[in-house]
Amino acid sequence: MCGIVGYIGKQEAANVLLGGLKRLEYRGYDSAGIAVLNGSLSVVKQKGNVASLGEAIKQSDGMVSDATIGIGHTRWATHGDPSDRNAHPHLNAQGDIALIHNGIIENHAALRVELANHGYSFSSDTDSEVLVHLIDHLWESIPFLDFEGAVRQALTVVEGAYGICVISGREPDKVIVARKGSPLVIGIGENEFFIASDAAPLVEYTRKVVYLSDGEMAVVHRDGYKVKTIDNVVQEKALTELDFELEEIEKGGFEHFMLKEIFEQPDVMEDVMRGRVRIEDARVQLGGIADQLEQLRKAQRIIICACGTSWHAGLIGEYLIEEFANIPVEVDYASEFRYRKPIIGPGDVMLVISQSGETADTLAALRLAKEKGATVIGICNVVGSTIARETHCGMYTHAGPEIGVASTKAFTAQVIVLTMLALALSKERTMSDAEVMQALYCLDTLPERVKNILECRDQIVDIAEHYKDARNFLYLGRGYNFPVALEGALKLKEISYIHAEGYPAAEMKHGPIALIDEEMPVVVIAPKDTTYKKVLSNIEEVRTRKGRVIAIATEGDEEIKALADHVIYVPAGAPFIMPLLTVIPLQMLSYYIATLRGCDVDRPRNLAKSVTVE
Ligand code: GLU
Repeated sequence: MCGIVGYIGKQEAANVLLGGLKRLEYRGYDSAGIAVLNGSLSVVKQKGNVASLGEAIKQSDGMVSDATIGIGHTRWATHGDPSDRNAHPHLNAQGDIALIHNGIIENHAALRVELANHGYSFSSDTDSEVLVHLIDHLWESIPFLDFEGAVRQALTVVEGAYGICVISGREPDKVIVARKGSPLVIGIGENEFFIASDAAPLVEYTRKVVYLSDGEMAVVHRDGYKVKTIDNVVQEKALTELDFELEEIEKGGFEHFMLKEIFEQPDVMEDVMRGRVRIEDARVQLGGIADQLEQLRKAQRIIICACGTSWHAGLIGEYLIEEFANIPVEVDYASEFRYRKPIIGPGDVMLVISQSGETADTLAALRLAKEKGATVIGICNVVGSTIARETHCGMYTHAGPEIGVASTKAFTAQVIVLTMLALALSKERTMSDAEVMQALYCLDTLPERVKNILECRDQIVDIAEHYKDARNFLYLGRGYNFPVALEGALKLKEISYIHAEGYPAAEMKHGPIALIDEEMPVVVIAPKDTTYKKVLSNIEEVRTRKGRVIAIATEGDEEIKALADHVIYVPAGAPFIMPLLTVIPLQMLSYYIATLRGCDVDRPRNLAKSVTVE
């Protein structure tokens, strides 16, 4: 998820690593650290930014300045708060193996117990630390195993996603790296090698790189490197010549962070569900609320409180929880809740949603609910944020840092967490195992379906060209897609400054229909579900008044073609999964309209990423 750098060669490692971490800062992070090896390992790591890590390194007596091998990390916490102790690198007990890790080790809890039984103790709350002890344990306990063998063995035991870099005083002069689901690239110099989670830290040293593929590991020495699969089969790797500039690398080749984040969504969706969706046992495993699950199932009522995009996710949550768990749900703007005399007390559950975990109004609402005796659970993206700390329990979205001000991947991650929550609450209450299994299967296929939708980019650019000068837009949807209509309209407003309204389709005749003329593009979300025919009638009504219709429809729907000016298809799916599909073209449409209008999509005027004021 966050940043990795590694170095072996002839330069002062600490300098190279620090410079590399600076280049990775654009990704966002909460802590940073490095380990260098010169006979023994020296580690400096702390919560905070790379500049203050630099200061700490200067002041640390132990940090050997002439070390020419080392590893560095910027962390975006997934397990364990951002803190000095949870920052990477992590060490084994003897302090002669240092490891940095990007990603999530899914079976960390089971491994922790197993290692504890072998006498290992832990000095952090991270999932990553288990890996360094596991390597140590295997190295100690399996005869004739070397460093590389121990890392390889350990990787056969861990489940989840990782990009790792490991060094050891027992076998100095090598850096071992491996990847599964988290990118890693090796930069080739003259008797020196650079390792990083993306090419940004490498370009000032070399343009020749080797990208590791999933399931590969490499042993990197001063005079060469060897890439093998984790099953020990040697791989011949082609060199790639980097021909892009730093800024392009930071944005992953995309023009803006927002576009990168839109396109990241299939991967983010996998991360959100990682280790949580257990199809084989028809179960959702949500560690953060496991102890309170029974109590939550008994809730009289759930009140979802949030602001902006998170509030839209909350509306979808209402439909999900009522359908799957049969618990009454109300959704409130946090800013309204806090200034009413809300009726809430013990027996009620408040669910707060916030990407940053710092949203002022949401925080105030949760404090009020707590004061009145309600159980408060949170859905946040930023680990250790104020909301995450103040709620009784909660779930992280694991969407990674979101840099674009207009939220995209954090929204879809929130909706997936809400879906998993609804399914977790449903179990034995309202759904059979077979039904839960079917729903989980649906969730599991989501990333692939979203990848398909992202391929309609050219078509969406065309549509954006058509409507970029419109002054108003209307978005219509029903059921699960009503909140998507609101979210589509909000995205357009935020970044293109075009006025847009979202409505439940059936409400159109109660007012907005008066606005429709040939100047009014109407985006209608019309998947084939129980209200499809009714939404078609709404489209007819728009056409009769010469409005222009952009329909989001289910693949294979020919009927709608005759009615709409443009049709963007999304794959078919169960109704509850549709918002996660239909919102993708709407995010893209807003993005392309805004860029065609010359707007600064990553930093829209008047908006802040984290709204910490009321
Ligand atoms: N899961 C790890 C942690 O929470 C790594 C996070 C990252 O990728 O930065 O420490």
